[in-house]
Amino acid sequence: MLSADELITEISGKSGKNPDEIKKMIKDKQRELSDLVSEEGAAYIVGRELGVELIKDTKRELKVANIVPEMRNVDIVARIASIFEPREFNKNGKKGMVSSIILSDESGTIRLPLWNDEVSLIASNGLKQNDLIEVSGAWAKKDTYRDGVELRLGKRGRIKKLEDGPAPEPDLPHSEDYPVPPKEAKRMDISMLSPGLNAIVKGCLLQVYRKRPFFESCSQCGGRVEEKDGIFTCKEHGQVEPKYNLLLSGVIDDGTGNLRVVFFREQAEKLFGKPVEEVKAEFTEKGQDAFWDGFTGIGKELLVEGRIKSNELTKEMEILCNNVEEVNTREEIKRLLSEVGQ
Ligand SMILES: [Zn+2]
Repeated sequence: MLSADELITEISGKSGKNPDEIKKMIKDKQRELSDLVSEEGAAYIVGRELGVELIKDTKRELKVANIVPEMRNVDIVARIASIFEPREFNKNGKKGMVSSIILSDESGTIRLPLWNDEVSLIASNGLKQNDLIEVSGAWAKKDTYRDGVELRLGKRGRIKKLEDGPAPEPDLPHSEDYPVPPKEAKRMDISMLSPGLNAIVKGCLLQVYRKRPFFESCSQCGGRVEEKDGIFTCKEHGQVEPKYNLLLSGVIDDGTGNLRVVFFREQAEKLFGKPVEEVKAEFTEKGQDAFWDGFTGIGKELLVEGRIKSNELTKEMEILCNNVEEVNTREEIKRLLSEVGQ
């Protein structure tokens, strides 16, 4: 992660505002967030608000299986599994033309209907089955007939035929009815997430909720326990000794948006840097404020893998983390270099 000074230089250079102005904006932002974020964290938010991209991710390869309804500016490279003959239709007395392309990659297939004038793109680009194409600036909508999702070009969408790469895998799921294989978590921007996805998000931990960092569960089944007068009861197992588990929730930001994140047990332990017994003892001894003042995770850059869901109360999206890693800058640089073939 860049230092605050490096971030200020970067934001200043890319936004055209002078560094003092940026520094003031960062201070204001920290104050606005009740000083819960580090200078670096606030710099990331200010950068994002100014439209400056600070967290670079060279490869943003969207796969078919990760396209979800309402996604905008969809850019995807996929192979044409089939092209349907154009047909005329009649809607409310108006004649129209429609054709569909079925796009396919290793993750699944998706339909791209072409409407009216768009139909001519097939001939003008010389598109045929098995061609590798790039669709850019498209958008996705719910496919109400098939209970899935389909792509639409819209006004800004483009289709480009690409020089052919490797031959298509023979076992590609070519039929749109073919079940989509299980989704592997893919590195994604926060702005592209939607509930139900498994995703890996790289972002900066901006904030944590300064609540009790642990909760009790049944020592026999791990399930929920109810507390009354210091006695814990499990629905299954009656009165039990509670087991203590770590819980940490906060907000991460990757420059495209921010997302509530919840870490349980081992994942929270990685961020606290100590097991639940020690966290519990420290919290009890120091009290809530002093405990969280001593938390060192704010401003760290994290790779968070997990399931995206919609919070039952707030309806906002959150990621339930099943693996978190601190971004190791050296490893990350190595990875990026190997991707560009160095
Ligand atoms: Zn139990």
